Amino acid sequence: MISIKSAAEIEKMRRAGVITAKVINALIEMARPRVSTEQMDKEAARLIKKLGAKSAFYGYRGFPKNICTSINEEVVHGIPGKRTLKESDIIGIDVGVEIDGYCADAAVTVGVGRISSEAQRLIEVTKRALDAAIEAAITENRLSDISFAIQKEAERNRFSVVKEFVGHGIGTSIHEDPQIPNFGEPHMGPMLKSGMVLAIEPMINLGVYKVEVLNDGWTAVTADRKLSAHFEHTIAITDEGPEILTKL
Ligand code: MG
Repeated sequence: MISIKSAAEIEKMRRAGVITAKVINALIEMARPRVSTEQMDKEAARLIKKLGAKSAFYGYRGFPKNICTSINEEVVHGIPGKRTLKESDIIGIDVGVEIDGYCADAAVTVGVGRISSEAQRLIEVTKRALDAAIEAAITENRLSDISFAIQKEAERNRFSVVKEFVGHGIGTSIHEDPQIPNFGEPHMGPMLKSGMVLAIEPMINLGVYKVEVLNDGWTAVTADRKLSAHFEHTIAITDEGPEILTKL
């Protein structure tokens, strides 16, 4: 069942979304050479608290930090730690917060200093895939039209979509029904309805689609260790079209 949120619930999620976006914007500014992912995590924790919210990731199934930081071949769920960023790295920054019982979830991938043109293109295509998916999040469409939009954008650029991790509904929990794969045939699944709130999150790889999870039990990496990018927004479906709750 995909829950339909009331206007009051969506208003709470808007607040969570604004905080998520503020934190991500601050972390984008920090993504410079010699900064450690732990420093980014600490700043995120400080800011989330200052803004009256709490991390939706901390303690989730035992996740030990406040945000996820995924560098280069890391796809998602990288754990902040002592590793420092280097010129030409790319880093996915994923932030989820909860305030007043409601969550929002968003992610970006950014370059550290100068990055290769290949890395730049991967980031741009993944961002465009998210934009296309959001455009498909209208009441005239079905759920898989979102998935199809992502796959189409990735594959027409000869990149591959990660199949093992998916977008999701969101509300009082960070992960609710439905699952939203980043691939699929169009016009399948439930009709999209006003009041559905979804976290749409393309993960796109430069090489093979396959991923592995490292021994830390969290960090997903590409099987061929080539680059991966990840973008995510929490959006509400309305009769007037999609509303991005985590707009940066
Ligand atoms: Mg998510």
